[in-house]
This record gives sequence, C-alpha cells and structure tokens, in this order.
Amino acid sequence: MNEHLLSKRLACVGSYVPNQARIADIGSDHAYLPVYLMLNEKISYAIAGEVVPGPYQSAKNQVQRQGLADRIDVRLANGLQAITPEDGIQVITIAGMGGSLIASILEEGRTTGKLVGVSRLVLQPNIGEEGLRSWLMAHHYQLIAEEIIEEQGKIYEIMVAQPTASPVHYTKKERLFGPFLMQQPTPVFLKKWQHEQTQKERVLANLQQAQTVPTEKLAQIQEELALIKELFV
Ligand code: SAM
Repeated sequence: MNEHLLSKRLACVGSYVPNQARIADIGSDHAYLPVYLMLNEKISYAIAGEVVPGPYQSAKNQVQRQGLADRIDVRLANGLQAITPEDGIQVITIAGMGGSLIASILEEGRTTGKLVGVSRLVLQPNIGEEGLRSWLMAHHYQLIAEEIIEEQGKIYEIMVAQPTASPVHYTKKERLFGPFLMQQPTPVFLKKWQHEQTQKERVLANLQQAQTVPTEKLAQIQEELALIKELFV
C-alpha cells in the first residue's frame, strides 16, 4: 500500500467521504487516507491527527513529500483534540482501531464540543463493533450505511453515521450484526458469523466447566449464540 494505491479497507472508508469535504483522519499513521483523497482531488482540506510521535512524523514526511503541506495539516494530538472549531471539519474518519477506543475518542470529543458541525463519521473498528454501535445510538447518531469486506484473510466492517435530532433505537440483534449488514447477508458476512459462532461455542464450553460460573457473561454468550444461529436457519 502507498499514497497512490490504498488498501481495500481504507479505500472503502474513503468512498464514504463526500466530495470536497473537510476531513479529520484520527489515528492517521502514515496519512495514507487523507493523502490519497487529496491526490485524487476528493477532499478540500484534511487534518491528519496522530497521538504517537513516530507515526506523526511518518505522516508529516509523507504529506511533505507529496507537496500537500498547505492542504493537509498533520497534528500531534490525542483523539479529537486535533481539531478546533475554526477548522470547519465536516467529516471524521477513524480506522484501524478497536471499537471501544474509537468510542472513547468520540466520547471525549463529544464532551469537549469537538463534534459540533461534524455531519458524518466514517468508522472502521477492527473489533468491538457492537459497542461502537451502542455509543452511536446513545448519542443520537444514525447509521446511514455499512459495509463488510475481506482483505488478506481479515474481515472488516465499515460504518457511516450522521447525527440525528430524533433518538435512534437499534435492537441487540442490529447492534451485533449491523442494521444494514444483516439485511443483505453477503458471503463475507456469513463467514464472519460462522467463525464467531465457533469461537463463542468454545468460550461457552470453557465457561460451563469453570468452578464459579459468571452468570451474566454466560447469559450474554448464550443470547448471542442464539442470534447467530438464526442467521443460518
Ligand atoms: N488509520 C490508519 C489505518 O487504518 O490504516 C492507521 C491505523 S493504526 C493501526 C492506529 C493508529 O492510531 C496508530 O498510529 C496509533 O498511534 C493511532 N492512535 C491510537 N490512539 C489514538 C488517539 N487517541 N489519538 C490519535 N491517534 C491514535
């Protein structure tokens, strides 16, 4: 992968960025996504936020090499602290992290007013999708699209959300599988949940043999297994 040729995963994230948007890519690492979008004239301005000095420097070098330093601002910052109201950010992309980390970045940003004026979130959690959907639901974000893709043997989900005035409710089943993804179960979707079923059955068997059975965890796994099995009837 390089600045001209994105991974399928990041290309999918980028495909949900509206034309000429002002974006903040948080946890940008090499800044591949904003650089690619800028080189393809898809965005008008970007912030590439990074909390770790090494990746921050890689992003800075990359942006400078491409001659984009006037249109992509690389900032060393924790989460949404990278953005200010003056930046006029419309879209936030966060990819390649766990869902709980993404949710905590969004939560910190929300409580410090960083999400005001942001009309779209494009998120790609590596794990913990259900928890991230719960955060979106709790804070009045509505999912407008979801994708599930496979790349080099790994399966990724991409979710696109926008703020909404009216409360949204997603059922446990929708939070687990994704309200859009479960509507049209693709082979990749089914492959993921077949694998999850095997994993959860293994965990369940171990829990049932434990001396002190954590009843809440047991009930949760049993509920999820029942929902997964419904996919295959
Ligand atoms: N977004 C790129 C992608 O999807 O390929 C890079 C993903 S990389 C696995 C995750 C990056 O997020 C790392 O470079 C890490 O330093 C950065 N990161 C983790 N927590 C962060 C935070 N709170 N604020 C900003 N960056 C963060």
